[in-house]
Amino acid sequence: MQKGNIGVTTENIFPVIKKLLYSDHEIFLRELVSNAVDATQKLKTVASTGELKGEAGDLTVHVTLGKDTITVSDRGIGLTAEEIDKYINQIAFSGANDFLEKYKNDANAIIGHFGLGFYSAFMVAKKVEIITRSYKEGAQAVKWSCDGSPEFTLEEISKDDRGTDIVLYIDDESKEFLDENRISSLLKKYCSFLPIPVAFGKKKEWKDGKQVETADDNVINETNPLWTRKPGDLKDEDYKTFYRSLYPMSDEPLFWIHLNVDYPFHLTGVLYFPKVKSNIELNKNKIQLYSNQVYVTDSVEGIVPDFLTLLHGVLDSPDIPLNVSRSYLQSDSNVKKISTYITKKVADRLQSIFKNDRKQFEEKWDDLKIFINYGLLTQEDFYDRAKDFSLFTDTDGKHYTFDEYKTLIKDNQTDKEGNLIYLYANHKDEQYSYIEAAKNKGYNVLLMDGQLDIAVVSMLEQKFEKVRFTRVDGDVIDNLIVKEEKKGAALDADKQDVLSVMFKSQLPAMPKVEFSILAEALGENASPVLITQSEYMRRMKEMANIQAGMSFYGEMPDMFNLVLNSDHKLVKGVLSDEEKECDTTVTPVLKEMSEIDAQRNKLRDKQKGKKDEEIPTAEKDQLDELDKKWDELRAKKNEVLSGYAAGNKIVRQLIDLALLQNGMLKGEALNNFVKRSIELI
Ligand code: ADP
Repeated sequence: MQKGNIGVTTENIFPVIKKLLYSDHEIFLRELVSNAVDATQKLKTVASTGELKGEAGDLTVHVTLGKDTITVSDRGIGLTAEEIDKYINQIAFSGANDFLEKYKNDANAIIGHFGLGFYSAFMVAKKVEIITRSYKEGAQAVKWSCDGSPEFTLEEISKDDRGTDIVLYIDDESKEFLDENRISSLLKKYCSFLPIPVAFGKKKEWKDGKQVETADDNVINETNPLWTRKPGDLKDEDYKTFYRSLYPMSDEPLFWIHLNVDYPFHLTGVLYFPKVKSNIELNKNKIQLYSNQVYVTDSVEGIVPDFLTLLHGVLDSPDIPLNVSRSYLQSDSNVKKISTYITKKVADRLQSIFKNDRKQFEEKWDDLKIFINYGLLTQEDFYDRAKDFSLFTDTDGKHYTFDEYKTLIKDNQTDKEGNLIYLYANHKDEQYSYIEAAKNKGYNVLLMDGQLDIAVVSMLEQKFEKVRFTRVDGDVIDNLIVKEEKKGAALDADKQDVLSVMFKSQLPAMPKVEFSILAEALGENASPVLITQSEYMRRMKEMANIQAGMSFYGEMPDMFNLVLNSDHKLVKGVLSDEEKECDTTVTPVLKEMSEIDAQRNKLRDKQKGKKDEEIPTAEKDQLDELDKKWDELRAKKNEVLSGYAAGNKIVRQLIDLALLQNGMLKGEALNNFVKRSIELI
C-alpha cells in the first residue's frame, strides 16, 4: 500500500473548505454526479473511436444510499493509479487562503477556481473512497482513501467492472444527506437534465396497499431535454409540456423563444413569456441556468438584462464563467455578448409575432405589456427595436403602434404652440366624465393603467419631440389642448371672488386635500362644475410614492381645482341670486373696501422710492390702520357670503356632485347629499 500527502500548500485544507462553504454543502452531489457523467461521456467517445475493447454496456450512473454512506457509481473511463496521482493528489493551491477568504460565500466560485469538484465531497464526509478501474486494457483497479487530513492511502484491489465508485462516509453534522427524500430532491434540482441516465434506487409501485420496489432503475433525469433538441423537430405541445414540467402550477405561457448559438459563444435554451397573474408568481418562477445540462443556479441577474429576468425557462451555456463573483460576471465579455444576443432575440421574436399575427399579439398585449414596458424603460437597445411594436391602448380598447397613434391624433390634438398632446386616463370609470368630454371634442384618450405607465409616460415625453402627455382630468378640456388665445376672463374679478368665497366655505373638510375655486366659460351645455388636478403636481406626488428622496412632494396635500362653468345656467343662477339677496349687505361693504383701497394706493404712491426711515411714522400707522380696516371689511363680506351660501342648496349640491363624480364624497357628506337630493326632488 502506498501512502502520501495531498499536494496542498495549506496544511489542512479540508476543514477550511468545510467551514467556508457552509451554505452550499448540498452541491457536493451535483459535483460528484456530474463527474460521473463526464467520465461516462468520455467513455462513449473512446468507444466511438474504437479505442475501447469490449462492450460499453449499460452506462447508467447510480446513486446509492447506505446506512451512513452515499455512493456515486459510474461505468465511465475510470482512473489509473497515475491518473489519481495527477488529478486528485496534485491539486495546485496557489494563494488558497486569500481566495477562500474572498469568496467564502460563493461555493461555485471556489469550486470552479480550484477544480475542487471532487473535493467538495469533504463538505459532508469524514472519509472518502475512490474505487476505480480504468477502461484501459489490463488496468489495475485501485482504491484511494482519505479521511479529510492531507494524508491519503492508495492500494491495489480487485474490481470486476470498469468505472468508478465514489463512497462518502457521511459525517455527523451532515446526517441530513442520508435521508432518501433529501437526496431525491437534490437530484431533481441539480441533475434533472443530465445527458447520461442517473438512477436513484429502484422504481417503486403500489402493491397490496404498500410501496414495493420493482426491478427497474429509478432514472431521475431526462437526458435529451427540450432545449437540446432541434426547434424543427418540436411541436407547440412539446414546449408547453416542458413548461409545465418546470413550473407545474403556472398557466400556459404566451410565447417562447428557442435559443441556439454556437458562435462566438455557446448558448442554448428556451425562454417563455409567462401569463402574469400576480407579481408574486412573477418572482417565484425563475429562469434556470445550466452549464452543459448541469443545473447551476436560478439567479440570472447580471447574465440577462433585468427586464428579462421576469421571463421563465432555461438557459444553458458552458461559456458563462461560474467561478467568478457576480460583480465580475457583468463585466465579462462573453456574458455581455450573451445578454445582448438574448435581448435581440427576444425583440426579434416579438417583432415577428407582431408582424405575422397582429391579432394574437394584441390579444396578449395585456400580459406582454409589463415586460415590454420594463424593457423600454431600462434597456436602450431594446427600446430601439421595440418602439415599432410597442402598443398604446385607448379607452375603447383599440391598440395602436406609436407611429399609428401619432398619425391618428396629429390633426386634432396639436395645440397652438405645435405640441402634440397625448390625453390619457388611468381609470376608465373614475374618469368617465372627463373621457367623455374629450371624446366629444373628437379627441382620443389613451388608457394608461399599467404598473409602469407613469414611468413610461415620462420616458416617452423625453423620446418623442414636441409631445406632452396629460391626464384627462388635469384641467378643463379646452385648457388641456389650447388651440387659440383665450378671449378674456370668464367673469370679472369681483364675481370670481364671490363664487370662490361661497363655494370654498361650503366644501367639506378633507385631510390633506386643498381646493382652489376657479370660474371658466365652458359653454352652456358643459357641466356646471368639475374637479381637476394639475398634471404637474399629480406626477410629482406619484413619483414621490415610488422614488426615495422625493418625500417633500409626498408630504404635500393633494391640490385640486373646483372649476365652475360661468356659462351654465345653474352657476349664473347662483350669482344672480346672490346679487339679489346680498346686494343690500355686500354692496356697501364692497364700496367701502374700494374707497379704502384708493386711499391705500395713494399713500403707497407717495411712499414709492423712499427709504423706510424717510417715511413719517404717522403715515406708516395710517397705512397699517387702513390695512386692518380692509381686512375687517373683507372678513365681514366673506361672512355674509358664506352665510348666504350655507343656505343655498344649489351651491352645496353642485359641490357634492363634483366630489361624487371623483369618488371624493364620503361618510357624513355623502349622507347629507342623499338627504338633500331627496328634498330637492
Ligand atoms: P474537474 O472535474 O473540474 O476537473 P474534479 O476535482 O471534480 O475537477 O475532478 C478532477 C479530475 O478527476 C477530473 O478532471 C477527472 O479527470 C477525475 N475524475 C473525477 N471523478 C471521476 C470519475 N467519476 N471517473 C473518472 N475520473 C474522474
